[in-house]
Amino acid sequence: MRHFPALTVDELALELGSRTRAIEAIKWLYAQRPLPTALPDDMPGVTHRVWKPFLARQKLITPKVTERQESADGTTKYALDFEGTNVETVRIPAKGRSTICVSSQAGCTRKCTFCATKELGFIRQLKAEEMIAQYLLARSEAPAAQPASNVVFMGMGEPMDNLDEVLHAVDVLTQSPAPQLRHVSVTVSTSGVLPGLKRFLAESKASLALSLNATTDEVRAQVMPQTKSWPIASLLEALREDAARRANKRDYFIEYVLFGGLNDTDADADRLVKLLEGIPSRVNLIPYNPYPGTGLETPSPERVMAFHARVVKQGLLTLIRWPRGREIAAACGQLVLSRDGSGFSPLSAPA
Ligand code: SAH
Repeated sequence: MRHFPALTVDELALELGSRTRAIEAIKWLYAQRPLPTALPDDMPGVTHRVWKPFLARQKLITPKVTERQESADGTTKYALDFEGTNVETVRIPAKGRSTICVSSQAGCTRKCTFCATKELGFIRQLKAEEMIAQYLLARSEAPAAQPASNVVFMGMGEPMDNLDEVLHAVDVLTQSPAPQLRHVSVTVSTSGVLPGLKRFLAESKASLALSLNATTDEVRAQVMPQTKSWPIASLLEALREDAARRANKRDYFIEYVLFGGLNDTDADADRLVKLLEGIPSRVNLIPYNPYPGTGLETPSPERVMAFHARVVKQGLLTLIRWPRGREIAAACGQLVLSRDGSGFSPLSAPA
């Protein structure tokens, strides 16, 4: 059985015997500040006769906040505890909005060499309840002028390896009366798990980000071992097929982490342009956020800008994502917690 806060209006309406009651209960949940830790004894707009037996079989899934770190730019990293399972969530403020970066797994099923999360191994899948609860917690602390209107599944974990729960979470995030996020404002990011990617494109209207990170299979396999199962061409073909269907008219975010001397040459820039021909894409260049022991390097800002200029000149819609929250290790690929639940591990401690 689904629990709060991952119940859809339809599921809740069945439980409460009316759509009106379901809508009242969901509105109540999203109006609370601070976030409640349990459901109330009485729910405004729902008769006690119906609410009481419902309470007996329901609970509100909320995390304990183990630790909170805020960086100078306002980026806030949360260490959260769901009954002994620790995950990280990041709130990233921007002009007029906040983006919440949500984890889909505790640890990760994939083994990208450059990502700190792989140090944890795979601990367990997160339920949709726990993904929505991460969002709700971070949302409840967002400044009024920067509401949490965007969600990216770019925290710990590979969303396509937990797709049923991720798809359910997307449905809940985009439902009315709340939180009613736009599908384009919810982005699911994948390291390129082809079967999941195809299913996601067929079944969801949310945005997609593909972590490409290299322009040849040889180089990509060095940093993302699964490339041997699903080469670059197969991933981009899936995007092309989806674009041809034009069912969603979506753009595809292409994440490209720049590693000094490995994938940041002019030849890489030219190959990247060629690879993405015919795909309505928006490229995000992410200078590698270092963590110890990978042997990988961060390119100089000049190299990053030269790479950017070269692809832009050839018509690619491209932004450089200079790191946010790097000093609290809240940036991409720096999410890792200690296994004992004591908060952030030394790996991810402030430099
Ligand atoms: N597993 C999913 C989502 C989590 S990673 C995926 O791979 O897309 C989110 C993004 O952070 C990915 O684009 C990944 O390539 C990037 N990333 C991981 N480690 C990084 C690091 N050390 N520096 C910069 N970006 C990193």
